[in-house]
Amino acid sequence: MIPPEPPPSLHLRIDAQALASNWQALDRLSGKGRAGAAVKADAYGIGAVRAVHALQEAGARDFFVAHWREAAALLPAAEGCTLSVLHGPLSGDDIAFARSTGVRAVINSLHQARLWLQGGGGPCHVMVDTGINRLGLALRDLGDPVVQQLEVEVLMSHLASADEDSPQNAVQLDLFQQAGKVVSARTLSLANSAGIALGQDYAFGLTRPGLSLYGGVPRPELARVIRQVVYPQAAIIQLRDLNAGDKVGYNGTFTAPVPMRTATVSIGYADGFLRCRGPDAALHFRGIQLPILGRVSMDMLVVDCGAASALQEGDMIDIPYDLPEISRKTGLSQYELLTLLGRRYSRNGLT
Ligand SMILES: *Cc1c(COP(=O)(O)O)cnc(C)c1O
Repeated sequence: MIPPEPPPSLHLRIDAQALASNWQALDRLSGKGRAGAAVKADAYGIGAVRAVHALQEAGARDFFVAHWREAAALLPAAEGCTLSVLHGPLSGDDIAFARSTGVRAVINSLHQARLWLQGGGGPCHVMVDTGINRLGLALRDLGDPVVQQLEVEVLMSHLASADEDSPQNAVQLDLFQQAGKVVSARTLSLANSAGIALGQDYAFGLTRPGLSLYGGVPRPELARVIRQVVYPQAAIIQLRDLNAGDKVGYNGTFTAPVPMRTATVSIGYADGFLRCRGPDAALHFRGIQLPILGRVSMDMLVVDCGAASALQEGDMIDIPYDLPEISRKTGLSQYELLTLLGRRYSRNGLT
């Protein structure tokens, strides 16, 4: 008999209502366009299968991943929806997979366009580069006969600086409008989360939010609209009493000035709680601040729990995860904070 699974000592509470409400808010802000959803990188770390179910329930129908393997894993969850692979086809096998499953390839280069046509073609998307210089056909290539033969559903481009008030935004918008005149596509798509906040000119027929679905706030316009989705919690694995002069953690970077009570918490940098979050930060127990002492280790860290007399070994405590605030404090991007989370969390709250 297989024994029951032990309870988790690290947990991600996912607020599925906040996820749905964020998608609906971004869909509304997309005006006449509809919002899709970027669910690449395991839905930015929150769990892609369950995210797709929750987003579908909220109304999303267009999902974007980066890799073909990600699309394969999401096929059952995304049934009845459009699933698109942003990196595009690299081989005949990718194309055979796309044609047999209906997963949409995003064509990013003349080479990919030729591969796609050689593999039999069919409806696809096209990415045009308007200045990020990462992926996408150059504007001058759009008139190429190979591109003109494609059956383009969505013509898309990607903004480089939408999270800033940069003149690059208007330049990219203008180039994208020009691209839309050269390629006959059913739908145009330019905006990511931050691009949606730039206004309806950027929305076109389809938007592709990722970060803000999961609680990220890339621009101040979204601060009142977007709700936190991810709430990590970790178990207390040991309580101990320090004497004045005792040191804590690797390299003894903290020395107790007076006798202190500490708690060792089951979260470390392997769980995305990087060392740069440690200094001057605190965890929470029922609203009480527990300041972090010394260095964060791979699997644990130590807090001062003198103010939380009720705390016991085995209790779960809250790890603050306000993305904009922690990003400001650590210099990590909100994207990094989400995708860093790692595999050791149990995740629930999503059906
Ligand atoms: C990741 C990605 C998105 C989503 O961007 P966010 O900034 O997370 O909203 C949209 N489009 C493309 C092409 C992407 O790679």
